[in-house]
Amino acid sequence: MPKCLFCSISSGEIPATIVYQDTDLLAFEDIAPQAPVHLLIIPRKHLPTLNELTSADHLLVGKMLSLAKDLAAKNGLAERGYRAVFNCNRDACQSVFHIHLHLLGGRTFGWPPG
Ligand code: AMP
Repeated sequence: MPKCLFCSISSGEIPATIVYQDTDLLAFEDIAPQAPVHLLIIPRKHLPTLNELTSADHLLVGKMLSLAKDLAAKNGLAERGYRAVFNCNRDACQSVFHIHLHLLGGRTFGWPPG
């Protein structure tokens, strides 16, 4: 079975423009940005979708959101606003099956989302 793309980025086997890393999390630039700022925040732990989260992951997911807040501030988005999005499975167009939090900002978004 081919290795997960985001596990390969986490291990350094596949390059990415990394903007933050620690023992639990990695944040890097999306390869096909949908906004002037488009970062992906991933856990190093492989979790295919949000459906696989358990109570053991509460702290991890909290850290992902907290990092999104920090990176938004670092990129000057805190006041004007930004979007933090998890896509889950087919209807939400999830394409990489290792959970990731999209941090998008630097333009005005529409609502409802497409
Ligand atoms: P999703 O559709 O929610 O699963 O989002 C997957 C995201 O991963 C998309 O925004 C892709 O542009 C992004 N992506 C795919 N491959 C890479 C890569 N090698 N480096 C950085 N981002 C990637």
